[in-house]
Amino acid sequence: MKNQDYNSRRTFLRNLGAGASALSLPLAGFGETLTYQHEHSGIHSLVTNLDSVRSSQPGRKLGIALVGLGGYSKNQLAPALQQTQHCRLAGIVTGTPAKATEWMQKYNIPKENVYDYKNFDRIADNKDIDVIYVVLPNSMHAEYVIKAAQAGKHVICEKPMAIYPKECQAMIDACKKANKQLAIGYRLHYEPFTREVMRLGQEKVFGAVKFIESSDGFRSGDPTQWRLKKSMAGGGPLMDVGIYAIQGARYITGEEPISVSAQFAPKTDPVKFKDVEETMFWQFEFPGGAVSNSTTSYAAGVERLYASCEKGWFELSPAFGYGPLKGRTSKGPIEMPIVNHQAAHMDGVCKDLLDGKQLPDHVTGAEGLRDVTLLQAIYRAAETGRKINLKA
Ligand code: NAD
Repeated sequence: MKNQDYNSRRTFLRNLGAGASALSLPLAGFGETLTYQHEHSGIHSLVTNLDSVRSSQPGRKLGIALVGLGGYSKNQLAPALQQTQHCRLAGIVTGTPAKATEWMQKYNIPKENVYDYKNFDRIADNKDIDVIYVVLPNSMHAEYVIKAAQAGKHVICEKPMAIYPKECQAMIDACKKANKQLAIGYRLHYEPFTREVMRLGQEKVFGAVKFIESSDGFRSGDPTQWRLKKSMAGGGPLMDVGIYAIQGARYITGEEPISVSAQFAPKTDPVKFKDVEETMFWQFEFPGGAVSNSTTSYAAGVERLYASCEKGWFELSPAFGYGPLKGRTSKGPIEMPIVNHQAAHMDGVCKDLLDGKQLPDHVTGAEGLRDVTLLQAIYRAAETGRKINLKA
């Protein structure tokens, strides 16, 4: 395949809407310079100009209430909500009165849109809030997603959707019963470099994918944080960032793995990591013949998604953080617009909600359930030392 073929195809997709059409995913519209950060390193970068995305209800913005005002809400979601076209920060749920005061002042949030965990259910009566975004420790996702659905609101839930598949199913069922939609915080599904590697892999632009290397890890800090407690996090780096590596292998192939093998690395700090794994590895086999190898770690940094194909290769590195993501192929660099991931994600979800559309399956609870099922299968494979057959 010639370089020109690769570039002209991308241009075609961009003209259709920056690749959005290939995956039915709207791009967030930004007419201004945005700032964004890597999930764990705090790198700042400047970006970008993208075409606007029109909504069928021009000017209307859905009101989002953030539940849990920790690092992700404070540093990423709230700033991103100052840039979104289809949603706005309307309310907060927090157990800390000092945070409530600070956020009300900073974001001009009216008192009647501020809740705590005890009066959360009263949010049902608040017409200003359309969507509840659950940004709590992993073990609390299921409880608050179910409460949000019962309050009659659409829900966005952070990744991992929950710790166990049966919790995911209960969350899906609660949203279905309430006739509300459930999105998972899969911000990369609205990110142009990520969508491009989805296309390269799934459309076999470099031929069939043979091998994928997909890894995500970082050096974790505070030894007292909930991320190191199995009861709250469900596990260690696999639950937190390993899920991105699982996603990478799945969205490059567009397939579900048929088997998994996994190994825990020895712990270099058994005190800090007494409750959860420090580093681990796993391998998937896919039905189309591709195999993948992945690492996740709280002891060392790694962030790479690489695919070797019959007629070339492509990769993103960095691949999973807040960006800027960077991509290359055996035919040259991948050039895509740089966006604020969180704004793109929330705008993408809210535009579909405003338009009365069903969210694309791969950003919903169905996708969250698939990932959580795989997370648990990886642990089972590592604990038993056996290759697990995942065929239904
Ligand atoms: P954090 O520790 O910074 O914040 C957690 C929040 O939950 C805090 O405000 C805390 O007060 C609140 N909380 C309520 N009850 C709690 C309890 N019993 N114990 C501990 N905290 C309690 O965590 P975070 O980094 O904001 O992560 C929150 C969620 O967001 C996690 O599920 C995480 O995986 C996800 N996340 C996603 C991304 C992404 O890029 N999609 C990035 C970071 C975090």
